[in-house]
Amino acid sequence: MAAKYFGALKFCLSGPLRHDSRAPPPRMDNPALLQHAALRLTSARDGETLARVYLELMRDIGGTLRVALYEAHTAVDVRSGTRSVRPEDVSLRRVDTGDGGVTREPVDAGGIQRCLASGAPVVLAPGEAAATAHTRVVLPVPGSTNPRRIVTLDDPEPAPARRVALLQVTELFGNQISLLDERERDPLTGLLNRHALGQRFLSMAGNGGADAQQAPWIALLDIDRFKRINDSHGHLIGDEVLLQIARLLENSFRFTDAAFRFGGEEFVLLLHGDASGVASVLERLRRQVEAYAFPCVGRVTVSIGYVQVTPGQPPPAAIDAADRALYRAKRGGRNRIVAGSEPGPTQVGATGAVEIF
Ligand code: GH3
Ligand code: MG
Ligand code: MG
Repeated sequence: MAAKYFGALKFCLSGPLRHDSRAPPPRMDNPALLQHAALRLTSARDGETLARVYLELMRDIGGTLRVALYEAHTAVDVRSGTRSVRPEDVSLRRVDTGDGGVTREPVDAGGIQRCLASGAPVVLAPGEAAATAHTRVVLPVPGSTNPRRIVTLDDPEPAPARRVALLQVTELFGNQISLLDERERDPLTGLLNRHALGQRFLSMAGNGGADAQQAPWIALLDIDRFKRINDSHGHLIGDEVLLQIARLLENSFRFTDAAFRFGGEEFVLLLHGDASGVASVLERLRRQVEAYAFPCVGRVTVSIGYVQVTPGQPPPAAIDAADRALYRAKRGGRNRIVAGSEPGPTQVGATGAVEIF
């Protein structure tokens, strides 16, 4: 596997990148650098930190290189376990490490889709990738499957030994992230799980400091009458609904937000924004689910309760507050979003009308 990967990448990186074919083949090892990278990568205890360390290492090794990391959540046929990489079945998410170092341009899905479909590196000539005048190399991160990771490198022109180090560090990252995925991800949907929620909650809530205006919002989403879906159509179809809802969630949010499978048919969302922005994002999501034709099942709806996290609030207290709002959404007739704002909760009904309790 590793040899095949390096073979493909060596070929890919030595071709269109002005590599002198008369030069001796690049050395495969750069022990001091790799030791440093391995120590740093293996010290990361969660996927978010690991991604940040990986991107820092890639920038350090690549000099002026611009690098971005993507997660590709692919649809899966729950009966056969096969994954579809058709563009309409893939939701793409750029990983934001919060340090401002990640490229901000719009996601250029073209090269990434090609890389996903072939499982092999893709080299885009200058101008071929939207918004870049550089050569772009699109690499699959080996080992990561749910979600798959893709890294894009702009203008990777350092010395051949450095290029090889970029690949080796990417392979080390793949090994580590697949280990952390087992702990942090829900195997069905590929979303972050409950275990990861506490950590992400603290890193997101911490960013706003004591400023209540910048505090994130937490939303609890529960599928309406899900038991009936299982009872009428069976668990496999129920699982497909869970997967499809997860894809709709992934596609609804900016890459600074995060979605989690909290358990069963419940999902948690951590969102940034002001009250009206968050309400409209959640309302749009509710409508998208309502309008989506789920195979075999037809119409499915969700109820959502949400609150703004108060500074210093521990995760269980914030989830509890969102859960109380969710309870009111259920009691109010389901298929609606309810904000648990103080002093009295504001309810946005299925019609979009605002009601005060
Ligand atoms: P409500 O509108 O009040 O939320 O009703 P509900 O039927 O959605 O809620 P209830 O809590 O009664 O049922 C949740 C169901 O979710 C029961 C359980 O079998 C099902 N469930 C939980 N986890 C999974 C899963 O991983 N796959 C499938 N297919 N079903 C699941
Ligand atoms: Mg439930
Ligand atoms: Mg439910």
